[in-house]
Parts: sequence; C-alpha cells; structure tokens
Amino acid sequence: MQEPDIGARAAQKQILAELPSVDRVLGLPAVASHVGQFGREPVLAAVRQMLTEARAAILAGQSSDASAWNEAAIAQSLEARLRRATQSRLRPVFNLTGTVLHTNLGRALLPEEAIQAAALAMRNACNLEYDLDGGARGDRDDLVTGLLRELTGCEASTIVNNNAAAVFLALNTLAARKEVIVSRGEQIEIGGAFRMPDIMVRAGCKLREVGTTNRTHLADYADAIGPKTGLILKVHTSNYVVKGFTSEVDEVELGALAKERGIPLMVDLGSGALTDMTRWGLPKEPTPQETLAHGAAIVTFSGDKLLGGPQAGLIVGARDLVAKIKKNPLKRALRVGKMTLAALEAVLALYRDPDRLAQRLTTLRLLTRPAADMHAAAGRVLGPLVAACGGGALVTIEACNSQIGSGALPVESLPSAGIAIRPARAGKGEGRFLKAIESGFRNLPVPVVGRVSDGAFRLDLRCLEDEQGFIAQLADLKVKS
Ligand SMILES: *Cc1c(COP(=O)(O)O)cnc(C)c1O
Repeated sequence: MQEPDIGARAAQKQILAELPSVDRVLGLPAVASHVGQFGREPVLAAVRQMLTEARAAILAGQSSDASAWNEAAIAQSLEARLRRATQSRLRPVFNLTGTVLHTNLGRALLPEEAIQAAALAMRNACNLEYDLDGGARGDRDDLVTGLLRELTGCEASTIVNNNAAAVFLALNTLAARKEVIVSRGEQIEIGGAFRMPDIMVRAGCKLREVGTTNRTHLADYADAIGPKTGLILKVHTSNYVVKGFTSEVDEVELGALAKERGIPLMVDLGSGALTDMTRWGLPKEPTPQETLAHGAAIVTFSGDKLLGGPQAGLIVGARDLVAKIKKNPLKRALRVGKMTLAALEAVLALYRDPDRLAQRLTTLRLLTRPAADMHAAAGRVLGPLVAACGGGALVTIEACNSQIGSGALPVESLPSAGIAIRPARAGKGEGRFLKAIESGFRNLPVPVVGRVSDGAFRLDLRCLEDEQGFIAQLADLKVKS
C-alpha cells in the first residue's frame, strides 16, 4: 500500500477533527428521540460503535467528506444499527415451502384458543399443580388426562417435552436392563439425532431385532420372547415406506401375542392423528384410540405434528404402566410447563367438536385448503410479485403439491398452487439468479421462505394466510444480481 502524501494526511486530520463527539451526537434532537425509543445505554453503545467505525474508515482512507456527518445522516445510521441490534432472534416468517408441518419453521401453528390459554397461564397464577376441589396439591397431568381419556379411550396419560422424550421415558421405565423386541423394518432415524437404536442404549434397554428389513412375521416376535423381554415395540415408520415384497405384523395380532405372553406392547405412533383424517380427504394415519383398542398397552405421539398443538410428547395407555412412568425420576426432567399444558388443553378441547375442527384447528385448516383457494391467491399476488422482481425475472403461476411434513405420510401429497420465479433468460447465471432471489425473499422484514427446485424459486401459497402483509412488504424486495 502506498503511503498517503502530506496533503492527504492533512485532509484526513481535518476530517477526523470534524467528527462530532459522543456527547454532541447524543445531544442532537433526532438522537434524543432514539433514546426515548431504545433506551440510553443501547443508544450510547451504538453512537460509540458508529464513531469508532467512522474513525477507522477515515484512517484507512475510505472515508467520505465531513458533510456526511449531518444530523439526519447520523440519526438514520443510528436507527438502522439500533433496529438491527434490538431485533428478536426469533422472528415470524412466511412458510411458503409447501411443507405444512415444517420442523425447522416450528411445526404446527396454534389456534387462537390455544394462544389465549397460554397467555392466560403466563400472565396469571394458575392451578398448575393445585387441586381446586380438595384444596390440596394436584398433578399437572390431570389438566389433560380427562380429555385424553375421552378422546383416545386411554385409562391414564402423562405429558413430556416431545415424543422423543416420551419414547425414551417409557423405554427407560418399562424395559431398563431388559430386552425390547423391534422389527428390523422399523429401525428408524428421524430428523437428525433421534435414532431408535441409540435411544434404546441411552434408555438402558437391550435392542432385540427381529425379522428382516422388508418382512417380519408374528413367529419372529413370538420366538424372541423370553425371560429377559421387557417390551415389544412397534414404531410407526412415518418418514419412509418399504414397498414391494413386504410384510409386517399388524397391531391386532401383535397385541394378542403380547397379551397372551404377558408382555406389554408399546407403539410409537410418531404423528398420531387424533381423529380419522380421511373424513377431510386426507390420507389415513393411525390414531391412538384404534392403536389402544388393538391391544397396545402404551402409545406415544407428538403434540405438534398432525395433532396441531404445542411441542409435547403424549403418553397414553394402561393405568399401572403410566403410573410407573410418572414415578420415574426422569419424568421430572422431561415434564412440560404451564404454557404447553394450557395450549394442549385448548387444542384437545377442539377435538370434542369434529364438525368444526377443520375451521378451528389451524393445521387442519391449512391441510384441507382446497387447491382452488391457492390458485385464486396466486392470481392476486402475481402482479405485485412481477412488479417487485423486476424485468430480469419470469414470474408464473404453477400448480404444485404440498407436503404434510414432520414425517407424516411421505408418499402422499396435497394438490396446491403457487408462484415460480425463474430468470427471464435461461442459461448461464441461473444458479446465481436463484440464490439472489431466494436471499432477497429471506431478507424481507418478515422473511419469506420458499424452495428452489427444477430451475425455479417456488412459493407454495397453501400456508399464506396474511396476503396483505405479504404483498405490502414486497416493495422492500432487493435482488442483488
Ligand atoms: C416425529 C417422531 C418422533 C419424534 O417426535 P418429536 O415430537 O419430534 O420428539 C418419534 N417417533 C416417530 C415415529 C416420529 O415420527
């Protein structure tokens, strides 16, 4: 790098000398109003940071002239800094990925009833573990046990942090130092770190695999039962299908075998729809009620998958086994808080009235939205999107398929409609264009998450409910090409 000449140095000194002091910046009326909005300490920190960066830029010879240091410019730069610094890390986004229960985007959206119930529990003292009838200490699980009994026919229930915790706690309670019989066709891994064999080890159980990847017969289970057997486990293989020459033992047969041999059958349902989804034209998912009726002693499922509630793991089943699970000291480590229970109770209550469920339960409302709705929405957002994306982009309406997500029903899809954005001229630079478009949408005030596939950035409109909010912020779309 060349040394700046004497004249340049003098100019540099001059600019540095003209930099306002911290106190002077703080005294500017526009900045004083920032203090009112963001607080004195954050504004002071932002002013110091801004001046330090300005000094460094001047010394590096990158600085502009001192006229940039007028009050309006300072106030604007500070405001941008303060907004960035004080923005929540957890932010709402538009989930236009086409996956309704998107694990990375927070899975189920909760109905207003659940939101209000959780807010009430947060704002007030509540009878979380207090029996209002007897005036004595209560049990937090009792808040939802009645509803779960009514909805699933279970004798007893307990709630933990998520379904992974439910499986872990049940295994640890019912089969520590014992063998758990599982079909080789059900050795699942779900999204990252939940692998059945690993969970078994951590729960202190010994995995006893039976059958083969594609075929397992009743005799395989029967032959494996011995003095060390603690549980028979059936796992609903929710995130894949084994097709072709396959055979699995259904719960009715397995339930009968388990009863005959005096070994409890546990079923990990994964998503576990609480009601028959075929009523709304959705694919069939096993319900806890039928699984229990088929002879399972313990059934576990998630709160925030098809159930449409908060993150939770629900354990339902036989009274004696649930009582043992509740006594496990690990239950205390895995239990849920009042917000979760409040939201769960409100969501379960909606299931009492199946006729109105598809309007009231957000997840179900989104899953049952007819494709014509999304086509109509696409027609309304097309114009604003064309305008926002500029001449370099070709924006079209396209039919697409949504996914339920969270491992549920992977081979089924739901007809939907959305927007595809591709470069106006195909060829070189397509990858860069798509990256720029994707990042432009991600950097909107309410980030829009879509998906890139087959040479286009795609927005599935199934989960777009706030159309006005979506359109209003398109003016801020910046596509860096
Ligand atoms: C999703 C799933 C789990 C894990 O449930 P979380 O609520 O995410 O912890 C466990 N088993 C099966 C079969 C699943 O589908």
